[in-house]
Amino acid sequence: MDDLKFGKRNKRGDWSPNAPLEVAPFWTWPPKFLSLLKWIPEYLFPWNAFHLATTMLYWYFVIPDREVMVNLNWGWALWLYAVNAAAIFAFYGSIELIFYVKRKQGNRFKYNAKFPSEQPSDVFWFKSQNIDNFLRSFFISIPLWTLVEVLFLWVFANGWVPWLSWADHPVYLCILILLCPAIHEVHFFCIHWLIHQEPLYKWIHSVHHNSVNPSPWSSLSMHPIEGFLYHAVAFWHLVIPSNPIVALFQLHAAGFGAVNGHIGFDKLEITENTPLDSHAYTHYLHHKYFEVNYGGDGLIPLDKWLGTWHDGTKEGDIRMEARFERKKARVNAKASGTN
Ligand SMILES: [Zn+2]
Ligand SMILES: [Zn+2]
Repeated sequence: MDDLKFGKRNKRGDWSPNAPLEVAPFWTWPPKFLSLLKWIPEYLFPWNAFHLATTMLYWYFVIPDREVMVNLNWGWALWLYAVNAAAIFAFYGSIELIFYVKRKQGNRFKYNAKFPSEQPSDVFWFKSQNIDNFLRSFFISIPLWTLVEVLFLWVFANGWVPWLSWADHPVYLCILILLCPAIHEVHFFCIHWLIHQEPLYKWIHSVHHNSVNPSPWSSLSMHPIEGFLYHAVAFWHLVIPSNPIVALFQLHAAGFGAVNGHIGFDKLEITENTPLDSHAYTHYLHHKYFEVNYGGDGLIPLDKWLGTWHDGTKEGDIRMEARFERKKARVNAKASGTN
């Protein structure tokens, strides 16, 4: 597939899309009905439908019976860890294998022309982004994902929070499922913005940002505090009346969904003529410029409202530079004031 029909390549070989990033169409006024009609299937397929499918598979084949989950013990906790780790190994690993190891798609639609394995760096364990990211994912973030999972299932099983049934509340629970990605975006924006502030950035979030050129293994490469806070989005379902399946979907949208921002390719060529949008560019720009796009795709466009949105265009660059200049001036003024 000719990626230059969809974007351009600079001298370094980095590819960028022609179309600016746009927030969800219901935030634009006057409303663009055609965009909205096009957006609805993209909202559901394939990514959110995939997270819902893994949720259902877990619910029927992996999650223990309620009587088991009433008591905390290592048996079912380790079982859940094993399944989570195997699922991420299979899902992230196959994307990594196809696009980064075998490089089936070469550089087509790739934002950064270089592959992480070509860039050894001292910031990583064993000087390798791949090994560092892999170890942090499997030995830090996935255990913390599992911890969050065990805790909310245990609370639901004991009846300490409402467990709404699908028979009694089908409409409410379906709406709640549709709102989960919005809950994710607001939760992620808030914790993410917070850990970008010093000294939290230096202590916590810099670990994730060591991967300036992310690949799938970078998705869950986090400091333990970030790994816990990120997956703790599922705890919102202990606060709002919900059901453990909905909480599990919320968790899967975080754990499995983290890959979207870190795929590094704008489109995955499923077949010669079937491109699949990765939705990776918003977060790729965050890894490139740090202080832009703290949220996700703009489902709830907090970045736009707070002035940190970068849509990938020249104008976006200019707005970002102006903001950085203003920040520098503020910091300098403060520093000279204290001298
Ligand atoms: Zn990231
Ligand atoms: Zn960040």
